[in-house]
Amino acid sequence: MAEGLNPQRTIAELKELRSLTADENGAQRIAFTPMWAKARQWLRSKLEKLPGVEAHNDAAGNLWATLHGDSEKALLIGGHIDSVPNGGWLDGCLDTMAGVEILRGIHAQYKGKPPVTVRVVDWADEEGARFGKSLFGSSACSGKIDMSETRILNDKDGVRLVDALKEHGIDFEKVRDSGKELKNASAYLELHIEQGPVLLDLDLPLGTVLGTFGVERHAITFCGQAAHSGSTPMNRRRDAFLAAAKMSPEIYRIAGRSKGGVCTIGSCTTKPGIVTSVVADCRITFDQRHLDAKALARMLQEAKEASEHFAKEGNVSVKWERIWNIEPILFNKHLIKFCDEAISETGAKPLRLPSGPLHDAAEVARAGVPTGMMFVQSLHGISHNKIEDTKEEHLEIAVTAFANLADKSMVWILSK
Ligand SMILES: [Zn+2]
Repeated sequence: MAEGLNPQRTIAELKELRSLTADENGAQRIAFTPMWAKARQWLRSKLEKLPGVEAHNDAAGNLWATLHGDSEKALLIGGHIDSVPNGGWLDGCLDTMAGVEILRGIHAQYKGKPPVTVRVVDWADEEGARFGKSLFGSSACSGKIDMSETRILNDKDGVRLVDALKEHGIDFEKVRDSGKELKNASAYLELHIEQGPVLLDLDLPLGTVLGTFGVERHAITFCGQAAHSGSTPMNRRRDAFLAAAKMSPEIYRIAGRSKGGVCTIGSCTTKPGIVTSVVADCRITFDQRHLDAKALARMLQEAKEASEHFAKEGNVSVKWERIWNIEPILFNKHLIKFCDEAISETGAKPLRLPSGPLHDAAEVARAGVPTGMMFVQSLHGISHNKIEDTKEEHLEIAVTAFANLADKSMVWILSK
């Protein structure tokens, strides 16, 4: 472990941040609000205490802190200090604050001049809680942001995203200039809470993330015929709900066969939606995720075939509309191996697992930067909630393992 590294300081700082920016309902650091700006100012003051560290905001509002090394090639460590409303004390800010601690450790170890340049980035608006656009800053940086779709976003009070950005000194039309920050990026690392129960159930503190799930999100509408619930015999009905309902157990079978995929019917609306009518139209929203692109395509195909089969059986029709999709994003195989080793060196057993949620790391990987990610166990398997928590001993070991990963990554960057 690097001499200057103090994982307990990270825990103390996370508590300090919580006391500054949370109320009785949880964290309130929603991006592009005064509370977020306050958290950012607090973060920046910590970074600027390190001699030789330069901090600035980029064109998309991402905060970068740079410690120049002998080589221009840069190791990036990222996180997000923004939270959802009533959020937890770790989601995103653990990543950022672990990055700050590792920067301190490297600064001390190399007397302010490490072999490679080390940069901590605090991404702007990972959560998308206010405007509904997740990964804002990182997608601007990767260049994958959809400008026309994002330009028209408003919050629930009708405030335009472009105006909220302006208040924080950001010109929406220029956000993709953020991409130049990646010029010398040789590796990107992120430490995040798992936000799920996998590590908890296996009683393991840390995991190596293989990548983020690909997602296929669709609306499926079954169309039958409205008919009186008293006068229509059961064998004469064209019941759209019956066909849709048959999809529910079927998606569990599809996910089960897929080895590692998940499927969710998240909503169901019926028309006419009255107690005295057979359902004419039934619309369900359907979300499928898998780390393997072929497996995801197969899951989608199987669901389509099942829907057509149930529609035919019930004498109704079915149509599919794609809402959104993204391909699986795989992390760098060298960094995956280093992550396993870094975890093992703390005495913990590494487990390789995919990430169900998307993260800023996925955007950086999409931009072509070799990316690695580590998970630390989440108690209750829950986040985006004030009960989100991780044992302090696990937070400590996470910062230590993550520092090991940073060390290995620097050696690897130099050898490339
Ligand atoms: Zn997060």
